[in-house]
Amino acid sequence: MQHYPLLEPMSHYDPINWQNPEFGDDAELPFTQADVFDAAARFQRFAPYLAKAFPETSATHGVLTSPLISIDAMQQQLEQVADTPIPGHVFLKADSMLPISGSIKSRGGIYEVLKFAEKIAMQETHLTYADDYAVLASPAYHRLFAHYGIMVGSTGNLGLSIGMAAASFGFQTTVHMSVDARQWKKELLRKNGVTVVEHNDSVSVAIAQGREEAAKDPHTYFIDDEGSRDLFLGYSVAGIELQKQLADNGIYPSKQSPVFVYLPTGVGGSPSGVSFGLQMMMPEGIYPVFAEPTHVPSVTLGMMTHLYDQINVMDLGMDGKTVADGLAVPKSSKIAGRVMRTLLYGSHTFDDDDIYRYLTMLADTQDIRVEPSAAAGFTAIVPTVQQFADQNVLKNATHIVWATGGKLVPADEMQRYYDKGQQLLADWA
Ligand SMILES: *Cc1c(COP(=O)(O)O)cnc(C)c1O
Repeated sequence: MQHYPLLEPMSHYDPINWQNPEFGDDAELPFTQADVFDAAARFQRFAPYLAKAFPETSATHGVLTSPLISIDAMQQQLEQVADTPIPGHVFLKADSMLPISGSIKSRGGIYEVLKFAEKIAMQETHLTYADDYAVLASPAYHRLFAHYGIMVGSTGNLGLSIGMAAASFGFQTTVHMSVDARQWKKELLRKNGVTVVEHNDSVSVAIAQGREEAAKDPHTYFIDDEGSRDLFLGYSVAGIELQKQLADNGIYPSKQSPVFVYLPTGVGGSPSGVSFGLQMMMPEGIYPVFAEPTHVPSVTLGMMTHLYDQINVMDLGMDGKTVADGLAVPKSSKIAGRVMRTLLYGSHTFDDDDIYRYLTMLADTQDIRVEPSAAAGFTAIVPTVQQFADQNVLKNATHIVWATGGKLVPADEMQRYYDKGQQLLADWA
């Protein structure tokens, strides 16, 4: 305990800022740029399928992409409430608008389902890599895929993305949901023919249960949020997308033009996959910052202590409870912290009330609605900026808040989030 002075405030649920002492060190990484391009090529092969199976993606010809939005009005508001300037320019990466699941899970979760479908189709039929994969939406393929199952454990959004994608192929799909999962997510899945198993326990338990059940059936494939390479690489493709969007805004990351990327962090898969993809495309000038609830700082805890997935927030006597359902993960993934050991700039933990405040502020200033987890990145900007003694080095900085979800949240539920944020903002004023 004495080696890690931040453990003390962390265990008392105080917000902390952790600067990663190993950021920028040399390290052997378990994946390469070629792995990111391989995943991108697979998404490309499946684009005709996605355009057909999910008409909402036909406008982008089956490419899953989200906008990078300059949010000047929100930046001014942030500066005003913090009573401090934010040097540089703030953007929102609106994965909250991604098709199919309305969350960042449309990257990793859907990718892993596509990869499994391709494997089965290659094994069992004469599909070639050059074929038009729209054929996979045919009744014949549907009948083939119906012999296979897909299983996953989730706090909600991963189950949603995997459930929707897997059901589209005809896979028999089971989602093990943790106690945090929202009712509407379960209902939406059931409406799409997905079996939802509800657990009155944390997602770590739901995942363990799913893993155990899937192991009993050789035709059932388990998607493991605690250690899947494919999920990770699906997320990493965002690096290719963002490099182009930055260039379109005249932004070329470097030490002089640092790009801070603020990522809400649950099990750590999506933020580390995205960070890795960014790093592979732009080797200099990317500064990822993770944002975690004060009650569930699992990835920060794992990285700080180098115990990674071998330590759980409960081991510190913490309750692991948060309204940010996407972040309610008491234990880090096996991959996340280890990959991020030298890539993570730092992390910040926040009080739940703040994410309601920021989601309301974002709605008021930019008319963009996100779910509570997705507003987490806003909590980390000012603390990160304030760590720089010389603010001048930040004058060309870019701050990207990764808004990880929200599009599918029912309007009445979104309104409740908004109202809550409005009340909490009134206490601030
Ligand atoms: C899943 C999720 C995250 C965090 O991703 P992890 O891979 O669990 O770290 C953040 N925000 C939202 C909305 C999510 O659904």
